[in-house]
Amino acid sequence: MDGLYGDSTRSVKAVGSEPVPGNPVVAPPVIASTFHLSPDEAQPLDKYGRYSNPTWRQLESALAELEGAAAALVFGSGMAAITSVLRVLAKPGTKLVVPADGYNQVRRYAKEYLASQGVTVVEAESAGMCAAASDADVVLAETPANPGLDVVDLHRLAMDCRRRGSTLVVDNTTATPFGQQPLSLGADLVVASATKALSGHSDLIAGYVAGSHPELMAAVEQERLLAGAILGPFEAWLVLRSLGSAGLRFDRQCQNAQALAVMLRAHPAVRWVRYPGLPDDPSHQVAAQQMKRFGGLVAIELTDADAVHALVDRSALLVASTSFGGIHTSVDRRIRWGDPVSDGFARIALGIEDTDDLISDFERALQ
Ligand code: PLP
Repeated sequence: MDGLYGDSTRSVKAVGSEPVPGNPVVAPPVIASTFHLSPDEAQPLDKYGRYSNPTWRQLESALAELEGAAAALVFGSGMAAITSVLRVLAKPGTKLVVPADGYNQVRRYAKEYLASQGVTVVEAESAGMCAAASDADVVLAETPANPGLDVVDLHRLAMDCRRRGSTLVVDNTTATPFGQQPLSLGADLVVASATKALSGHSDLIAGYVAGSHPELMAAVEQERLLAGAILGPFEAWLVLRSLGSAGLRFDRQCQNAQALAVMLRAHPAVRWVRYPGLPDDPSHQVAAQQMKRFGGLVAIELTDADAVHALVDRSALLVASTSFGGIHTSVDRRIRWGDPVSDGFARIALGIEDTDDLISDFERALQ
């Protein structure tokens, strides 16, 4: 699709069907494990549900369009997408850089599984990614990093990787393709959880890989086929159904995050706030260069765990739950998941409530 359209228009168009009179405007899911074969050896497009599915294809073409990729592949979770890519790229002897301040289960997988297969795993903070990449073969970056929300300069990192001939993979979960397009900044592959803002209703787990190198994408597809980390067709259809409104929802989440970050930044009960959209955030300059929207997550530190619990208890709108990108605003004390953060650290995931209602609710709850 051409670059004339805004993101919401692109997401609405991406999930529509061909205008064939009498056909549904939005294609229904194709729920099938097996398909009719031809009598000769000629293979039909779809034959068995672990190889391919028409609803996957529709979702994949919408995701590829949004990420600015030639192709996308859907997976049963964000972790399935990420670990499949790592298994394809990281072989014995490979030096792999993973984010020290990113999603902790990716780090665990690299250290607990890949390291035992002969992969040298190096952890680097967002600020140290370029330095760590200088002698690496594969670099996985996550920006803004979950949960601390530091930002990696993707253009610079991509140039460093290209110079060295290494492969750059970017986790685009927190930014979404509405926030940034890592492939246009020079990344080789995008990996992401579609569990968050793209599906956006806190009711499914899904992931995807997007890229434009045919051999790399073919290798990832083979890995999905053989390891079987596939997405059910009904879940694929639910993601597709949600994707049309994802631009709209993400806009509101970003608007809420910006307003909340500004309010919390000036609040005496809050020790510090990180949000890439705050003009004085250490990441803002780089974020403003590479992001169109700054995301729906805000990181804060209160005095201790009790202060975070009190915030949730006194609020009429907040829910205490993990994950992000849903319609409800939620709070998660990341220390409970093993992240290297303090007791009073909270990741706030903004929902789509009215901005004024949220700000008033936080003001009341923090009193
Ligand atoms: N990447 C990031 C940045 C995440 O925050 C998460 C989950 O929270 C994942 C990947 C994994 O996604 P999933 O839970 O869909 O496997």
